[in-house]
Amino acid sequence: MKTYKHLFFDLDRTLWHFDRNSEETLQEIILEQRLHDYGVSDSTAFIREYRKINEMCWAQYRKGELDKESLRVIRFSRVLEQHGVHTPGIAERMAERYVEVSPTKTVLCDGAMDVLEYLKGRGYVMHIITNGFEEVQFVKLNNSGLSPFFQEVIISERIGFKKPHPKAFEFALRTSGALQDESIVIGDDLEADVGGARKAGIDQIYYNPERLTHEEVITHEIAHLHELRDLL
Ligand SMILES: [Mg+2]
Repeated sequence: MKTYKHLFFDLDRTLWHFDRNSEETLQEIILEQRLHDYGVSDSTAFIREYRKINEMCWAQYRKGELDKESLRVIRFSRVLEQHGVHTPGIAERMAERYVEVSPTKTVLCDGAMDVLEYLKGRGYVMHIITNGFEEVQFVKLNNSGLSPFFQEVIISERIGFKKPHPKAFEFALRTSGALQDESIVIGDDLEADVGGARKAGIDQIYYNPERLTHEEVITHEIAHLHELRDLL
């Protein structure tokens, strides 16, 4: 087993429970914006559709086809349109509230806190590398108690290269003073985290809690964060 020194964690869906936090936020906003009055009676179905649309918008964002501001509003306007809601201003208000409310949510992925304590105790130097937006990622890290574990927080938006671009990982190594050979990337996204790290010549741990099938060759794969104790 290779010895690592620097651990680069993805944030959303790897440590911060994106889906549960997002669900809580959306339920609140749907009530607050009184979508029921516009004919949205099934908030669960609304959230399910929002998720699909959000994923598509993020894929477009990663390819540079959508900018940040458009992404934030379009994901809401598209799902509202699907529900026959065309009233001006609602998508913008929901977009604004989503960005305000969601980073205050604090649900973490199962075992995240315990395993970070363990890794810190083992002397690893830990960092975050995320494609999320700067102003929300820092709020999330602070509110959820994750901040003290990390030395560097690398936000792709700020450096101008998004994961999976190898330059995002090269920047992360440089900023942290880490060598390729003593570093490993831990993330839930096969393309952005695993594929990106591999292209940059860095080992990878694929966090795959849903045990999705795939054909990729990965350094290590785990279904629960606790398994990091066996690897690191
Ligand atoms: Mg992720």
